[in-house]
Amino acid sequence: MSYSLKVCHLYGDLMNTYGDIGNILVLKHLANQMGVDLDSEVISLDQEFEADKYDIVIFGGGQDFEQSIISKDIQSKKEALTNFIEDDGSVVAICGGYQLLGHYYIGANGEKLQGISALDHYTEKQHDNRFIGDVLIENKETGEKYRGFENHQGITFLGKDERPLGNVIEGYGNNGQDKTEGAIYKNVYCTYFHGPILARNNQIAKHVLMNALKRKYPDADLSTQDAVSVSETF
Ligand code: GLN
Repeated sequence: MSYSLKVCHLYGDLMNTYGDIGNILVLKHLANQMGVDLDSEVISLDQEFEADKYDIVIFGGGQDFEQSIISKDIQSKKEALTNFIEDDGSVVAICGGYQLLGHYYIGANGEKLQGISALDHYTEKQHDNRFIGDVLIENKETGEKYRGFENHQGITFLGKDERPLGNVIEGYGNNGQDKTEGAIYKNVYCTYFHGPILARNNQIAKHVLMNALKRKYPDADLSTQDAVSVSETF
């Protein structure tokens, strides 16, 4: 049996300020170790997101200017993206991408940028401040620890059915108040980590690939893929 996965790099030309494209390279590398072909394509402004074509969506971080353009364009993709998520599609959304999957993001200049409300979080503005630095978190369900680097002015508050990606041990995380970092909803992983997150935290890359394989090949024996070992957090 040969396996293949297709990645949509959502707004990959605009939301890649922090080397988030490295996440796709990591997915490709790990997929190949699992005997899985993985290829990706960028879907950007004025292009349709065809949910049926993809197994994984990567939505990177960016600056407020790019986000203001995407906030408008993404409304035309809202229904297809929401359906993809509700149908257990795998998503990794980072920082600006994470913010736009929720209800709204208030930019540094006070402008309210509409998200797609596919997830129930919202992002407020900090007063003349950014959270910048290294972060260490622990996922209470798996016991896994993840490391990353955050750089955001927005402060995010989680909503219904969202669990944090982890609890903050060092750094600020979602809002600097409730000790949460990132969000998990169905097969969606959201985070403020750049770095990129999957390169530093191979365990998450494996969860994403396994979730996508199980969804695409529900009757397959994926024990060989599951046996591929990944490195610990570093
Ligand atoms: N512009 C957003 C903020 O400052 C997102 C930043 C990012 O993607 N790193 O909060």
